[in-house]
Amino acid sequence: MFRRLLIANRGEIARRIIRACDALGIESIAVHSEADAGQPFVAEATHSICIGPARASQSYLDMETILQAAAQTEAQAIHPGYGFLSENALFARMVQQQRLAWVGPPPAVITLMGEKASAKKAADAAGLPLVPGSAGLLSNIDEALAVAETVGYPVLIKADAGGGGKGMRRADDAAGLQQAWDEARQEALASFGSAEVYLEKYLASARHIEFQVLADSWGNAVHLFERECSIQRRHQKLLEEAPSVALSHEQRMAMGARVAEASARLGYVGAGTVEFLQDPDSGELYFIEMNTRLQVEHPVTEEITGIDLVQAQIRIAAGERLWFTQDDVRIDGHAIEVRLNAEDPEDDFRPSPGTVEAFSFKPATTGRLRVDAAIEPGIRIPPYYDSMIAKVIGWGQDRDEAIATLRTALEGLEVVGVPTTAGLQADILAAPDFVAGDLRVGVIPGRPELS
Ligand code: ADP
Repeated sequence: MFRRLLIANRGEIARRIIRACDALGIESIAVHSEADAGQPFVAEATHSICIGPARASQSYLDMETILQAAAQTEAQAIHPGYGFLSENALFARMVQQQRLAWVGPPPAVITLMGEKASAKKAADAAGLPLVPGSAGLLSNIDEALAVAETVGYPVLIKADAGGGGKGMRRADDAAGLQQAWDEARQEALASFGSAEVYLEKYLASARHIEFQVLADSWGNAVHLFERECSIQRRHQKLLEEAPSVALSHEQRMAMGARVAEASARLGYVGAGTVEFLQDPDSGELYFIEMNTRLQVEHPVTEEITGIDLVQAQIRIAAGERLWFTQDDVRIDGHAIEVRLNAEDPEDDFRPSPGTVEAFSFKPATTGRLRVDAAIEPGIRIPPYYDSMIAKVIGWGQDRDEAIATLRTALEGLEVVGVPTTAGLQADILAAPDFVAGDLRVGVIPGRPELS
């Protein structure tokens, strides 16, 4: 096992990785920007090192400086968390060239999955069902029109380099397609430096369902069931749960097996997530993309399986064979996570950083609650990064109990100093559609006006 691991990230995920290191007897190294010097993750790591100014491009995204910090602190491995450099194949390669272990899949797999058209081809070849659409990238509008005729409107033009819902436009007919084509390409070029696009049938009222996989470097892969993440605002997930009420156990195990097999065939290593949309009419799942990293919402999977995904990632990166089989993995109960962001609900959910004067939960809930927080009372949230301050996860024997635990927790939540999205989350948990499990991408239960 490694003696020292460097965490190329910040906030709650840095703290999460520190906890995993502690449990495995590994010394953790936090790298941080000048703006983050006072953050809890810096104090909690075994060692910390400042890597530059607040601006992420000069600190958390500065590959050379992070590698220098690793050399200077004699780290043996780098965990990238999520966001920042976590899906950067060049960085993964540089880490390996410096003879450090990369906590993630091989750089070639990151590259393959990073461009959506190539990812879809690979998923198809590995046996996963795709959303009907173009076979790959489109070279002109006439090709797009022809594919749209075949799959039927509405359709989506999507950016090959897409992320965060950018470079994606819907068209309801041939006239709209020309506009969608121009807009998607413009936005893709501006956001990602590439105007390459492809086309998919638009699945209205779909659910977002994703499977968690764990694969070792010996060719073994298992799935840890699915998470449902349909509740999103502007393509950002607000609330996630596991398992999904929309899959039968047979469907879950059948698709899980296909996902695990596909991951093994792709040479995947570590924790990964395969995302699908579920057609509301047929119930069929269609691949949309694979995320080659840990997901924000990984705790709900941990809560229902009892498997620590971050420890697993580190053990796999150290070369261990998977220490359990598919048959050993069971679903125990139900877990729901809400993301608390420091955003102002009165001002279109604008990020509103500030000093957190109080952050606590009244101990009213007797249920099982987990809080993965970036913050502590007295901490100033820097304005430069993500606005998520904590994830609150409720577990129950069943879905109703998980909802009740989380609702009670949110009622007892006290955050003073910064506005948060807690009210929005409480409204969702109380909404009849949510309680009934009737979830659709693009609809926020209890707050239709935000959808
Ligand atoms: P990104 O990487 O930009 O997040 P995705 O391909 O993961 O792009 O899509 C993001 C979201 O857009 C999905 O979660 C879903 O809500 C919506 N979406 C993507 N493809 C389709 C589709 N074919 N039909 C309907 N909605 C879609």
